[in-house]
Amino acid sequence: MQSPVKFDYTNQAWLRDSGNGLRYTRCGHPVSMNCDCFGKVFEGFTEAEAAEILAQAAQLGRTSAQIISSERQSERAQQEANREYGFKFTTGGQR
Ligand SMILES: [Zn+2]
Repeated sequence: MQSPVKFDYTNQAWLRDSGNGLRYTRCGHPVSMNCDCFGKVFEGFTEAEAAEILAQAAQLGRTSAQIISSERQSERAQQEANREYGFKFTTGGQR
């Protein structure tokens, strides 16, 4: 079986499939380098998601990193809300 990886030549970043679709993977640079590689900024996103973020960033005049950090924050809030609902649901009695 072929290794499920792909190189994005436009953005110079690797994508890897870990069973959840091809997603960008972090570059191999040390953290201390403080690099701005596409794979580092877009780590964990699919190509389609990355394109959406790039479009949003261009539209809002913000950097992709800013869009991603606010997206991750709202994702976390969503997860917390889900956990709360799940808790209410499971303690809400049996069917
Ligand atoms: Zn890098």
